[in-house]
Amino acid sequence: MNTNTPDTPEKPLDFIRQIIAEDLKSGKHSNIVTRFPPEPNGFLHIGHAKSICLNFGIAKENNGVCHLRFDDTNPGKESTEYVDAIQKDVRWLGFDWGEHLHFSSDYFDQLHDFAVQLIKMGKAYVCHLNAEDMREYRGTLTEPGKNSPYRDRSVEENLALFAQMKNGELAEGTCSLRAKIDMASPNMIMRDPAIYRIMNKHHHRTGDTWCIYPMYDFCHCLSDMIEQITHSICTLEFENNRAVYDWVLDTLTTPCRPRQYEFARLNINFTVMSKRKLLQLVEENHVDGWDDPRMLTISGLRRRGYTPASIRNFCETIGVGKRDSWIDMGVLENSVRDDLNVHAPRVMGVLDPLKIVITNYPEEQEEELEAQNHPQNPDMGTRMIPFSREIYVERDDYMENAPRKFFRLSEGREVRLRYAYLITCDKAIKDENGEIVELHCTYDPETRGGSAPDGRKVKGTIHWVSAKHGIPAEVRLYDRLFSVENPDSDKEKDFKEFLNPDSCQVLENSILEPYLADIALEDRVQFERQGYFCLDSKESSPEKPVFNRIVTLRDSWAKMQKKG
Ligand code: ATP
Ligand code: MG
Repeated sequence: MNTNTPDTPEKPLDFIRQIIAEDLKSGKHSNIVTRFPPEPNGFLHIGHAKSICLNFGIAKENNGVCHLRFDDTNPGKESTEYVDAIQKDVRWLGFDWGEHLHFSSDYFDQLHDFAVQLIKMGKAYVCHLNAEDMREYRGTLTEPGKNSPYRDRSVEENLALFAQMKNGELAEGTCSLRAKIDMASPNMIMRDPAIYRIMNKHHHRTGDTWCIYPMYDFCHCLSDMIEQITHSICTLEFENNRAVYDWVLDTLTTPCRPRQYEFARLNINFTVMSKRKLLQLVEENHVDGWDDPRMLTISGLRRRGYTPASIRNFCETIGVGKRDSWIDMGVLENSVRDDLNVHAPRVMGVLDPLKIVITNYPEEQEEELEAQNHPQNPDMGTRMIPFSREIYVERDDYMENAPRKFFRLSEGREVRLRYAYLITCDKAIKDENGEIVELHCTYDPETRGGSAPDGRKVKGTIHWVSAKHGIPAEVRLYDRLFSVENPDSDKEKDFKEFLNPDSCQVLENSILEPYLADIALEDRVQFERQGYFCLDSKESSPEKPVFNRIVTLRDSWAKMQKKG
């Protein structure tokens, strides 16, 4: 319990944590063991973060352990690149599997032996139906299936055929090993599921040792059993698979008996979540790799500038339930905004610069002005910012023929330069095309620090950077990768048709205050009035800093949508 805030009631336990608390109380378990079981066929996304926080979180809270197990039974799509990336991401999120790094492929020998045991019990058979016949024999939701003509083979024949499968004597696709359960079961998954198939593929860990590979329903429960997992937590789409999970373990009367529990997967609007689709975006170059800052992969969020704490807080905020639901992208953005609001120093950066010449400021003169690093938190200290005769401000802080309520720059109007002086705009200088190239302003030397001794009110305050001292940078502003809430919902169209063409805006001529020359890759700052930013870990260099906008200051999207 958090003892610092005695007023906030403890959050009620979610249904999985309740089950675990009861199992501990009743003495059913004394050590909690969970696992996170990714298939190494892609990078992790924010949905996986929910599962990671749940599995590792439960282990931590109960002094248990959480295993990281690679479910690597489909060699065609898996690779060590993914294995490494997944480990990096889980660690970055702040979790530790200790010595419990496992691979389903470590159990291939044992799994094979269990399959042989099922055959000997008369509970598995080699079936030669092809995919099409298999489907037909399976029946439908309203009609029972039919028994395969190969279902009643003798144990000896099955053992011999399975050995031939294993020895590479039978061709891929010609047969599979199936569990003999119930072709009339109302649960279609129980209609004699395949448990081993032939696949002549090189495996990234076992090489060419195997040409048969176990299917998920057979492998997962037994891997859980081998690792003595107490609570095997997965997403709702596996609810019907639980019957097979239980059947395999009960039929083999294994010494340890894990239980499977299902929770609702995370869905977020304006994105796609499946690895298969994310892979398409990567392979077809719609994005700049798995870690594109617009992707909701862990590596994309990391490169974008999300903090591990903000992702963990997000997962806590959305909770764990039993009903599928959609979470608004704004909730994820808020989680990082809340974190950075507390921790990120405030600085000034001009994204789209317009030059100002302060005509009454002496040419040679320079001075340093003190600025607070975090106005709400004096402990974060102050810094000095250089000021000189020529500065940059945001182009849209100037307006010709401005309406009365425009409290920024327009001819004849006075505005406050943050931490500096009050200046009055005298004249806009245009080029031959009528484009404004610079503003001529005068400053009031009596207003150093930003307030007038005569007490006159100046409403607008804008940010600025000294032209001579500022550092040039590229700044990238991101929007959502898709322009519709659910890119998957239109069955007639490919989800990629809904990619947002304006999801990345590159500003190549931004000017930032000199403080930003020294920031480290892992630092995050607020550019006042513009949002939170960090260096791009992939493309930034000392010669050419590249900054990513992590998130705007407020939910500008919600506001825009309301306006229509
Ligand atoms: P995808 O559907 O994106 O390809 P997956 O389920 O195939 O994901 P796995 O590598 O099998 O990916 O997933 C590892 C674990 O993460 C599983 O236990 C799975 O239930 C969980 N998981 C995957 N997607 C989500 C999600 N959107 N929300 C919560 N948990 C998820
Ligand atoms: Mg999966």
